Amino acid sequence: VVKFEDGSLFAQRFERLEELGKGRYGVVHRIWDKTNEKEYAAKAVRCIKQQDKDKVAQELDIMNSLRHPKLLQLVAAYENPRDVTLVLELITGGELFERVVADDFTLTERDCILFMRQICEGVSYMHSQSVVHLDLKPENIMCTTRDSHDIKLIDFGLAQKLSGDQPVRVMFGTPEFIAPEIINYEPIGTQTDMWSVGVICYVLLSGLSPFMGDNDAETFANITRAEFDFDDGDFDSISQTAKDFISELLVKRKEDRLTAEECLAHRWMSQEDTEMNKVALCTDKLKKFIIRRKWQF
Ligand code: ATP
Repeated sequence: VVKFEDGSLFAQRFERLEELGKGRYGVVHRIWDKTNEKEYAAKAVRCIKQQDKDKVAQELDIMNSLRHPKLLQLVAAYENPRDVTLVLELITGGELFERVVADDFTLTERDCILFMRQICEGVSYMHSQSVVHLDLKPENIMCTTRDSHDIKLIDFGLAQKLSGDQPVRVMFGTPEFIAPEIINYEPIGTQTDMWSVGVICYVLLSGLSPFMGDNDAETFANITRAEFDFDDGDFDSISQTAKDFISELLVKRKEDRLTAEECLAHRWMSQEDTEMNKVALCTDKLKKFIIRRKWQF
């Protein structure tokens, strides 16, 4: 179990290298561990109020309770008066969506199955531990390395442990990916993540965002109606089982959505490699999707 150590010990053990990324809360750097000559990632989070520290402490708690090959692992944690640093395993493959639109990658439905399987494996494990991620979106799915199909889920900053019968309501998330129950401030559950899994799958296959409106209010209205379609021509080359899979996740009533385990057993996900659709998908729209998401920061 990782516990907070005094911040001064960080510099004794690690050397800070280049910046790897930035989020709403943290700045992530590549770091070098002088004691074992290994590389890690350090996520530094500024903590001005005690509330900020409590939030990182919760993230640490959650990460301590999760140990799975598809989930980013916590290595150490350091505390200073004004910031907290989480030392994480280093991921070098970049964000999944960036990878699949790269010139040296040909995206097929088969690739999407391989990626969605791993997402569901990670999510299934989290849910078995009663943890909900609540921020599943493309930016939080990373490729372990550049030359494999391995991915990991990152950023447990919004994750929560659900404790039995106490209903939990939340009012955060990323508009395009949040479930109707969040918008309606109704009780959430592990099924809330499965909605986001459905949206991610829809976008990965088409580059289109199923509920995106001209503004957040419109997006929210589209989500609460849970109305979407596969009308765009880009879906012509997508198999019916893939569409069925998505349709069984983007269901308004959360109890009626597939669980992560059911996803893994679904006929789209469980098909043999020889049966999978290997037609190259056009990623022009996915490229546009990525550019648009970047502008939102
Ligand atoms: P968010 O706004 O999504 O809540 P955050 O402030 O909690 O972000 P992260 O999402 O954890 O921060 O990290 C920000 C970015 O840093 C990621 O999108 C990713 O590009 C990069 N990153 C995070 N963790 C790692 C890691 N372990 N290895 C390599 N890069 C990482």
